[in-house]
Amino acid sequence: MTDQNKIDRSDIFVGGKFLDADSKARVEAVNPATEQVVGSVPDSSETDIDRAVAAAQEAFRSWRHTTGQERAQILAAVADGIAVRAEEIKALLTRQNGAPRWWVEQDVGLAEMVYRQAAGEAAELEEERIVEAMGHRTLLRNEPIGVVGAIAPWNSPQVLLAFKVANALAAGCTVVAKPSPETSLDTYLLAEAMIEAGIPNGVMNIVTGGRTAGAAVVKHPGVNKISFTGSTASGISVATECAKALKPLTAELGGKSAAVLLDDANIEDFVASIQRECLPFSGQACFSTTRVMVPRPMHDDVVEAAAQQLESFKFGDPADPETIMGPIVSDRQRERVEMYLKSGIDQGAGLVMGGGRADRFDTGYYIAPTIFRDVDANMRIFAEEIFGPVMTFTAYDTEEEAIALHDATEYGLSGSVFSRDLERATEFARHLDTGQLLLNAQRGVPYVVRDMYNKSAVGGGVDRIAGFQQTKGISQP
Ligand code: NAD
Repeated sequence: MTDQNKIDRSDIFVGGKFLDADSKARVEAVNPATEQVVGSVPDSSETDIDRAVAAAQEAFRSWRHTTGQERAQILAAVADGIAVRAEEIKALLTRQNGAPRWWVEQDVGLAEMVYRQAAGEAAELEEERIVEAMGHRTLLRNEPIGVVGAIAPWNSPQVLLAFKVANALAAGCTVVAKPSPETSLDTYLLAEAMIEAGIPNGVMNIVTGGRTAGAAVVKHPGVNKISFTGSTASGISVATECAKALKPLTAELGGKSAAVLLDDANIEDFVASIQRECLPFSGQACFSTTRVMVPRPMHDDVVEAAAQQLESFKFGDPADPETIMGPIVSDRQRERVEMYLKSGIDQGAGLVMGGGRADRFDTGYYIAPTIFRDVDANMRIFAEEIFGPVMTFTAYDTEEEAIALHDATEYGLSGSVFSRDLERATEFARHLDTGQLLLNAQRGVPYVVRDMYNKSAVGGGVDRIAGFQQTKGISQP
C-alpha cells in the first residue's frame, strides 16, 4: 500500500546543493499507523559519503576561521527556519515514525531551542587566552576538531540531530549528518532551513541511508569525530570502529530507566508522570522510566492507579491531536516487543493489562499498553530495554533493596524518585547509579548535561560545544 502523498527523493544534501545520489538503492519509510509507504530516500553509497566528506573538508578550511558571532547569526537563522517549517516537519514526522502530535511538538520545539541555545553560546565563545606558568607564556586556543559525523535515531530525530549539529557548527566544525532511515524525509526541510540561513556551501551535509551508510561515515578517514545516538548494540560497533582509528566518539545509547517511589510518595505525582516519563511515545524513548519500584504496602494501590491512568489515555491514530499513545515504529520492533511480552508471561510476571497486539485496529503496528506486576530482577522484562508500551512494577521492603533493584541493570541513563520530602528524595537520589534524575518527575532545565554510565553512554553522553573542540597551546619562553 502506498500513501497518496508519497515523497520519493533521489537526492542528498551535499556542498550546499541537493545532488542526485550515486546510489540507486533505496530505503523506504512506512507509516506505522497505516502501514503505507510514505516515501523513500537514497541508501547512500561510499561514493556519496566520499562526496559529502570532501565537501565538508573543503568548507572547514574557511568555516573554522569564522568568528563565534558569525556562526551564532547563522545558527539563530536556522532556528528561525525550523520555526517557519515546524508544522510541515511535525506532520511529516508523525507520518514516518508514528509519534503522537504532543511528542513531535516537543521534538521540533526543542530542536529549534537547541539551535538558539548554541547560537547564544557561540556568540560568547572564548577562542583563546594566555596562561603564564613555569616561565612560559602560553597561548591556549580552542580549535574545532574538523568534520563531524552526526548519526541519529528515529524516535526524537530533530532534537537529537540538533544536539549534534548545532553544537558542532557552533564550535566551528563542519558536519556530515546521517539521519535514521525511518525519519529522513524531514531532514530535507532542515537542509532548506540551512540554505535559507545562509550557511556556506559544504558546512552542513546530509546523507541518507541505513546502517551501511552510517558505518561508512564512521569509518571515513576524513571524518574527525563521531557523535552517535542509537541502540547499545550499534553503539558498540561504532565505538569499535572509532577505537581502531583513535577517533573521538560521543555516544548516547540505550536505557532501562527506573522510577522509585519512597514510602511518603504522592501516588498522584507518579501517575501524572506516566505519559511524559514512563511511556512517552509508547515507551520508545531512551529515558522512559518503565521499571517502577514501590514499597510493598503500596504496590497494589500504585499498580491500580497506573492501570486506571493507562486506560484513560486516548490510544490510536497518532495524527489525532488528542492521542496520547500510538503505534510502535515498525513491524520488526512490534515483534520484538511481543517477544518480551511472552517472556514476561513465561517467567511468571503478573499481567495486569495488555500483553499483546491491540486487536481493535485492522492496520498499524499497535501494541496494547501493558502492565506487569510482581516483577523480579531475574526477569528479562525487568533488565532489558523493550522500547514499547510496557511498565513493570516491583515491590521492595527496604531502601537498600530499592537502590539495589534500581541499579540491577547494565544501563544507567535516567530515572526518577518520588517523595513528599525533597531533601529525602535528593539524599536517596545520591545513591542511585544513573546519569540524570528527576525528583517527583519535575523537569528542571530541559537542556540537561548528563554524565552517564555503563551501557547508556560513551564519552560523557551529551555533546556540548566543548566536545567538538580541542585545545592547542602555543608557548613562548
Ligand atoms: P539504531 O542503533 O538501530 O540506529 C541509530 C542510527 O544509527 C540510525 O541512523 C542507524 O542507521 C545508524 N546505525 C546503526 N548501526 C550503525 C553502525 N554500525 N554504524 C553506524 N551507524 C549505524 O537505533 P534506533 O532503533 O534508530 O533507535 C533506538 C535506540 O536509540 C534505542 O536503543 C534508544 O534507547 C536509543 N536512544 C538513545 C538516546 C539517548 O539519548 N541515550 C536517545 C534516543 C534513542
